[in-house]
Amino acid sequence: MGWHIRDRQLERSIGCVQLELGRSVDPQLFPHRLGDHDPPHSIDGNSHTIRLPIVSFSTPPFSTPPFSDEHDELRQSARGFIERELTPYAQQWEEERWFPNDVFPKLAAQGLLGLKYPEEYGGQGGDYLHEAVLIEELARTGSGGTAAGIGAHINIATPPIWKFGTEDQKQRYLVPAIRGEKIGALGITEPGAGSDVAALATRAERVDGGWVINGEKTYITNGVRADFIVTAVKTTAEGGHNGISFLIVERGEGVDSAKLEKLGWHASDTATIAFSDVFVPDENLLGELNEGFKLIMANFQWERLAMALGAVGAMQIAWERTADFARERQAFGRPLSGHQAIRHKLADLATSVHTCRCVTYDALRRFVAGEDPLKEVTMAKLLTQRAAFELMDDCLQIHGGAGYMREYWVERAARDARLGPIGGGSDEIMREILGRVLAL
Ligand SMILES: Cc1cc2nc3c(=O)[nH]c(=O)nc-3n(C[C@H](O)[C@H](O)[C@H](O)COP(=O)(O)OP(=O)(O)OC[C@H]3O[C@@H](n4cnc5c(N)ncnc54)[C@H](O)[C@@H]3O)c2cc1C
Repeated sequence: MGWHIRDRQLERSIGCVQLELGRSVDPQLFPHRLGDHDPPHSIDGNSHTIRLPIVSFSTPPFSTPPFSDEHDELRQSARGFIERELTPYAQQWEEERWFPNDVFPKLAAQGLLGLKYPEEYGGQGGDYLHEAVLIEELARTGSGGTAAGIGAHINIATPPIWKFGTEDQKQRYLVPAIRGEKIGALGITEPGAGSDVAALATRAERVDGGWVINGEKTYITNGVRADFIVTAVKTTAEGGHNGISFLIVERGEGVDSAKLEKLGWHASDTATIAFSDVFVPDENLLGELNEGFKLIMANFQWERLAMALGAVGAMQIAWERTADFARERQAFGRPLSGHQAIRHKLADLATSVHTCRCVTYDALRRFVAGEDPLKEVTMAKLLTQRAAFELMDDCLQIHGGAGYMREYWVERAARDARLGPIGGGSDEIMREILGRVLAL
């Protein structure tokens, strides 16, 4: 003789789950006291009801370390803005294959383009934790392309100028970028050089007063709309990492962009950029000559952490929406979540979200504490990108045919998530780094 779960009912109002138990599973699996019963009654050997507390699995705010109350306030404010100004347009921008440029000044007006930058440059004087909050919340746009375009501006294009730029470069590019008046892009990848950065072939020849660039970049986020491109070039004939420098290239004569069609991130303008005899003045050399590889490495940790944070944010929202769908959608006379296979899948997915969050927050905490958490950041990037893609696929499956339809958010989310294991250093490259770090 034993017990089995006959039904499961969610009671939001009283914040508990009622499990109606019948006989077929060992009652020890559900230890409870008489006082837990509602209403209290003795066990009569037949079915009875117990109360279990609902432990919320909703999106922060919560003051989870390394975040504090102050970050939670920022989270609420950023979320409100994003849900008001960006999320309602996710589908429209997806169809238009473009999100409007005025998103940048709108974000700037909220102080959201300069959270980590000093006030003297128009920033908010915060730090990477403030930025981390925004990155997670940007996932609420429900548009990977929009989040990517904003993210490229604040997480990969402007940080090198902040860290390596001259005062003049900061005034000309960082300040207007924080105001949303100039949009930035980072141009490293080329048709013949992706993971293998040292193979890049875009050449900058020394001329009087500056440099002349010839070559081509590809897969560049904001590649059409960017006013300036922080561009990796070869400045010596010798190969290898030592010959790379960075130039800040302004859009103008000889700079030609062509938008690429892609699987996801449709609202963003991923583009090839051809440089034909583009003159760049001396004052636009960013950092030291031939020391560009250091500049690339300096921001990699943050770029990868940002991708991990974005994945965690997107996974959380996808889980919440899918759990709601499963509670409402009926099949065989009960909600989908009333079927054990779906319920267990959602339990696994919640566990995956939580695991990804813990690993990412651990890497973030170490990063802001000034450690060099190469191992932890690499693991966070590797874990979260594949996990996010798999979670989106499972969420799509739970939506059935609806999940395959353009009108459903999950169709877009599943496509958008596929980029994660490729961009910002692929899964294979993350494993190569870990192999070295772990002395394998
Ligand atoms: C939508 C999108 C946006 C992007 N935005 C930008 C941007 O803003 N700026 C920018 O500079 N770049 C950007 N990229 C480029 C991105 O960073 C590269 O695509 C990525 O680094 C991989 O390079 P690749 O495409 O040349 O692939 P390759 O390097 O040619 O690799 C092909 C495959 O081989 C694997 N591989 C390579 N080397 C090894 C190895 N040693 N061992 C095992 N496997 C290996 C890779 O993991 C991959 O699976 C973007 C890409 C996309 C798709």
